[in-house]
Amino acid sequence: MALTDTQLERYARHILLREIGGVGQQKLLAAKVLVIGAGGLGAPSLLYLAAAGVGTIGIVDDDVVSLSNLQRQVLFATAEIGRPKVEAAAARLGALNPDVRIETYRTRLTPANAEELIGPYDLVLDGCDNFETRFAANDACVRLGRTLVSGAIGEFDGQIAVFQPQRRDAKGERLPCYRCFVPEPPEGAATCTEQGVVGALAGVIGTWTALEVVKEITGFGESLGGRLVLFDGLSAETRKVRLRRDPECPACGGLP
Ligand SMILES: [Zn+2]
Repeated sequence: MALTDTQLERYARHILLREIGGVGQQKLLAAKVLVIGAGGLGAPSLLYLAAAGVGTIGIVDDDVVSLSNLQRQVLFATAEIGRPKVEAAAARLGALNPDVRIETYRTRLTPANAEELIGPYDLVLDGCDNFETRFAANDACVRLGRTLVSGAIGEFDGQIAVFQPQRRDAKGERLPCYRCFVPEPPEGAATCTEQGVVGALAGVIGTWTALEVVKEITGFGESLGGRLVLFDGLSAETRKVRLRRDPECPACGGLP
């Protein structure tokens, strides 16, 4: 579908980029992205994906806005305390960009509903705060062949990774999934409800995952598939490491 005059103006700074252009913008408008968690990471991710004109955005979150969220969850206002996050997010994103269709799921993603939730989407952005949801999202993405862009934060450290076991590298080897990297939930893993996190770090990592989503949709740049970026907010250093596929992985090991 051709871009309207309004869209040509709204997305002019994308269209000027050789790597995106009108064709890339049309791909963004046709894309369907499911965002898991409208928290610290989901808030900036959702704002940038909606601003970018990602045509359909699904949001999965079962929580309500609380006062202690507002230190980092920039999607929400003080007057919205107590309101379901998916509802507040949909209102804000709809006001930002009427081109975007917002679908809301006020629930937790679990092994029981993961495939049903992820099925209608092209790509999943996971910014949740617990391992149960991460594993459920990963396993469903493996089964459905969907790209999983994943962000995580704690205290001053952040991570970004892209999992695509449906893709192969130049040597013909499949790329790893999340479980190849983290086979089981670490013992006594803390969440940021327990450990604290500097608010702007959620902005850095949440925005970075949105950038990787835009790259995967439009195909520009170098995909982060099979790589992990580690960001240290104290030293401002980043490191990019290659993740290995585990042939015995319980999620993707069975893929031919
Ligand atoms: Zn795996």
